[in-house]
Amino acid sequence: MQTLVIATRNAHKTREIHQMLGSGWDVRDLTALPHAPEVEETGQTFQDNAVLKAVTISRYVTGLVLADDSGLEVDALNGVPGVRSARFAGPGATDADNRNLLLKELAKVPGDRFPARFCCVMALASQGEVLGTFPGVVEGEVIPAERGSGGFGYDPMFIPRGYQETFAELPPVIKNSISHRARALARMLEFLRS
Ligand code: IMP
Repeated sequence: MQTLVIATRNAHKTREIHQMLGSGWDVRDLTALPHAPEVEETGQTFQDNAVLKAVTISRYVTGLVLADDSGLEVDALNGVPGVRSARFAGPGATDADNRNLLLKELAKVPGDRFPARFCCVMALASQGEVLGTFPGVVEGEVIPAERGSGGFGYDPMFIPRGYQETFAELPPVIKNSISHRARALARMLEFLRS
């Protein structure tokens, strides 16, 4: 069994990555490492932040560390919330706070479907060195409403291309086969195999 430390305290991300990797992996995150530092996301891009998190945490643990930096880009809002997705409504914002602010911003724009995408960059690191970075994107549309109770973050507002349901309405197994995170993880696994 291979051990992978996910450089996050976001239980939703850890659960999704664990589900996608399957039972052959021992997946841990920073909730099991209370002394690991809080990494401030000071980068301007998903890639910068993913590398920052993976490299910093890999100095505190042995073995492979995987970081995921991700977010939602809405074209009508010039790519916002983007890299600031987690703290769109300010420091300490909850998912509901962030969705409420997005609903407020969308109310200023005409239309009822807004082209958007979820982006993810994963970075793999070991002992302070980055081993590789792996992007993943899922295109779709954001709706100015919330539908469904699954998932997390902006899932109730995002309909992936080719579907009628939001990520929060789709079964997790579907989200986890087409998501930005699934696509980045597939690239990471290919890298480890090669
Ligand atoms: P990070 O910790 O800076 O990568 O924050 C990612 C933020 O982007 C999350 O807090 C969510 O708001 C949003 N996000 C990323 N991936 C997803 C997803 O799969 N579904 C819904 N929201 C997501």
